[in-house]
Amino acid sequence: MSPSSRPLKIAVVGAGISGLSTAFALKSAGHQVAIFESGDRAGGPIASTEKEGYRLEEGPHTLLVRTRAVAALLDELGLTDRIVEANDAASRRYVVKNGRPTALPSSPAEALTTPLLSPAARLRALFEPLVGRFDDPHIDETLAHFVTRRLGPEVLDYLVDPFVGGIWAGDPHHLSAKHAFPTLVEWEETAGSIVVGAIKKMLTSRGEEKTPRRLLSFDKGLGTLIEAFTDRLESELRVNTPIRKLRRDDNGWRVIYQLGKARRGETFDAVFLTIPVHALPDLEWENATPPANSIEELSTLPYAPCNLVHLGFLREDVQHPLDGLGVLIPRVENFHILGSLFISTMFPDRAPEGHVQLATFIGGTRQPQHTEADDQTLIEMACLDLGRLLGIDADPQFASITRYERAIPQFEVGHDVYRDHMSDIEAHLPGIFLAGNYHDGISVPDLLEAGQHHASRLQDAINTNDFLRR
Ligand SMILES: Cc1cc2nc3c(=O)[nH]c(=O)nc-3n(C[C@H](O)[C@H](O)[C@H](O)COP(=O)(O)OP(=O)(O)OC[C@H]3O[C@@H](n4cnc5c(N)ncnc54)[C@H](O)[C@@H]3O)c2cc1C
Repeated sequence: MSPSSRPLKIAVVGAGISGLSTAFALKSAGHQVAIFESGDRAGGPIASTEKEGYRLEEGPHTLLVRTRAVAALLDELGLTDRIVEANDAASRRYVVKNGRPTALPSSPAEALTTPLLSPAARLRALFEPLVGRFDDPHIDETLAHFVTRRLGPEVLDYLVDPFVGGIWAGDPHHLSAKHAFPTLVEWEETAGSIVVGAIKKMLTSRGEEKTPRRLLSFDKGLGTLIEAFTDRLESELRVNTPIRKLRRDDNGWRVIYQLGKARRGETFDAVFLTIPVHALPDLEWENATPPANSIEELSTLPYAPCNLVHLGFLREDVQHPLDGLGVLIPRVENFHILGSLFISTMFPDRAPEGHVQLATFIGGTRQPQHTEADDQTLIEMACLDLGRLLGIDADPQFASITRYERAIPQFEVGHDVYRDHMSDIEAHLPGIFLAGNYHDGISVPDLLEAGQHHASRLQDAINTNDFLRR
């Protein structure tokens, strides 16, 4: 049998969504897979729990599905009938201006009059197509510099900064435009303008790979997605089995793992490492080592810390209609929180009758010190800000906190260095593949799609590489 047609034996290390989607794609391609997970469950931060009648998400709350590939994967996982789309009201988003939630414009006409921007700032933004390209398109520019240059400082403060806080828990003054928002940079390069680029894209992308944008979860929350994967990968998944060491031998990679007090080993043709970068230096290497310092330097890739404060209130205690997805806070507005999601507006069954659930994010690279506060202080910070913003003058009926010391990897200016390390490690160690959100993008849909991409990468390596003929 030729190397290209032989099904391979593959180890996938880490059973977050990256490991699960990669293992599923590899298994679907006919390979024999084993998934090693150090924790006692799969899913990483994706976990749905029930407490006192509230259904909580311990990490992500929704998937923004935009491509046919992700829609097809959900279907293949048997999830199509279990999808719950966010309520229509969630199409409205609030951003705080002068201490008050202000609806984001939902049409170009509304954008021309939005109170989020001053008349001068709106006029400045209208001239975006006339702003020249950057002298050197290869320069690694901060998102803040890019947006200010093209659209003006108020667009940065009131339209970009709050979203970057909400999605990346990050800071546009540090994030790299080309790494964190490559599409914007590409539109500037190809169309000379992000507005023109976006319009062109809209007109030309009625093609194959796109599907209507859907903001969704599942009947039992996002944990349903993890269950669907683990049902299909039941015999492949080994929890409580951390990988300790990787040893190159004549037949491939010997994966040494911990099982209770014992260390065991098993040989695989290839290994996909989907663990976070900060877990990489704990792995020992034998007979083949990554390039000097590459793992240590890669492990310094910054992550934003973030805490999630879940609060439940009596509906009658909240004056705001909560008619939207949630509210995001620009840095210049000086609040403690990054933003809050109106969970029971999106998904009405997430709180007991007569109650509402709000999920509030605190910390990020904007205010990392807040993540160290004790539980009571976090609840007080959230209640103080939500009280001001949403007219709540009562104590919460329910509170629960989830903490992440390293929530989201940050693709900051200088990220090229980390990408170079990733490429060097893979080039140096044939049969070792890196994957995970620091490698493939931070959103769950990106990581779902990456699984298929990694299966193709393996096939390309089989076709072009000699790692099978060690
Ligand atoms: C609070 C929060 C909110 C978010 N909100 C959203 C959202 O609304 N929408 C969205 O699309 N995305 C969101 N994200 C981002 C998204 O959830 C993550 O990017 C994604 O879940 C990361 O998946 P991963 O598999 O790459 O990493 P992880 O889930 O971290 O998986 C890595 C796994 O490796 C295991 N591991 C580590 N070391 C070893 C070892 N030596 N051996 C074996 N296993 C090991 C870990 O236990 C872990 O299970 C959010 C993230 C957070 C934290």
